Amino acid sequence: MTAELYDTVIVGGGPAGLGAALYLGRSRRRVALVDSGDARNMAAGVMHNMLTNDGVTIADFRARARAEISRYGVEFVDDEVISVAPEGDRLVTVAKESGAFRSRTVIYAAGVRSKVPDVPGLAALWGKGVFECPYCHAYEVRDGHFGVYGGAVPGECLAATLTAWTSSLTYLSDRRELPEEEQGFLTASGVKIVPEKIASVAAHPDGVAVDLTDGSVLTFTALFLHMDTEPRVEPLRPWLQAADLTEVQTDERGRTSLPRLYVAGDLGKNMQQAAMAAASGGLAAMAVNADLIREDRPGALYDLPPAAH
Ligand SMILES: Cc1cc2nc3c(=O)[nH]c(=O)nc-3n(C[C@H](O)[C@H](O)[C@H](O)COP(=O)(O)OP(=O)(O)OC[C@H]3O[C@@H](n4cnc5c(N)ncnc54)[C@H](O)[C@@H]3O)c2cc1C
Repeated sequence: MTAELYDTVIVGGGPAGLGAALYLGRSRRRVALVDSGDARNMAAGVMHNMLTNDGVTIADFRARARAEISRYGVEFVDDEVISVAPEGDRLVTVAKESGAFRSRTVIYAAGVRSKVPDVPGLAALWGKGVFECPYCHAYEVRDGHFGVYGGAVPGECLAATLTAWTSSLTYLSDRRELPEEEQGFLTASGVKIVPEKIASVAAHPDGVAVDLTDGSVLTFTALFLHMDTEPRVEPLRPWLQAADLTEVQTDERGRTSLPRLYVAGDLGKNMQQAAMAAASGGLAAMAVNADLIREDRPGALYDLPPAAH
């Protein structure tokens, strides 16, 4: 264990962790950020909808953010956190190679993983012709022919949203029985429904080819789908006794019912977008800063209202 006592250890160096690091560094806090470098959006390579950084590569965004934040003394550690647990009134974060870090607070911003449905060929095209987020990717393929895969997580709302980018939409239900209401939404959006089961998906010069089990092949400029996500909270077990951190998040600043633990980014109660993740990192950092001032200077700040779950 390093002898150093950090004000905050940040777990995760995506937009949320980096946003928190910038605020805390500029608040003159002693901060270490530990990151394993495999972000949720890495498959896409580039990122949209970030002011002044629209279309930037993720690697470049991260490198420039680190360079900016380093000016404020934040330490960056490239490693994987394997546990975070309380020890008295401190938290101990253990990383695989670098050992243990003791801190007064932890901002947990490790993100979520998208669970790609088990359709042959789909995973290989993830982020390259197969997408989840219309706001992130639809503009680049605007006016094309879009498929919406609604076989895993119903996507009728996604299909309707995509009408902002194209009027040529096909909904692939993959033989899932569509409730009447869902069919109504799709019909109202002018979306064609194909009920056949999907056999596989492959790259095609026009975008993506979808092989159906009846032998027919459909080609699309892009295929969109809703995915289930998996919270990356393994290092918090067994301290965290809930399925994920949204269950224990107590306010919009990322405080949680676990003492000294804050959440930011996709893992919190957030719209899952990079700019929102960065903003939530800033909010969590401000909560940390205020709570440390409360601790160091009793009576200096108003008491927090009771936590709202
Ligand atoms: C394919 C795809 C494309 C997307 N494109 C866009 C886009 O164009 N624009 C947009 O606004 N949003 C986009 N998003 C959404 C965006 O990626 C997320 O909202 C955003 O990355 C969330 O930021 P975050 O910091 O919470 O998590 P992440 O960016 O996922 O970062 C989490 C970080 O924590 C690290 N980590 C995880 N576990 C550990 C551990 N145990 N120890 C150490 N480090 C750990 C990871 O390595 C990762 O670096 C896209 C999502 C996907 C899936």
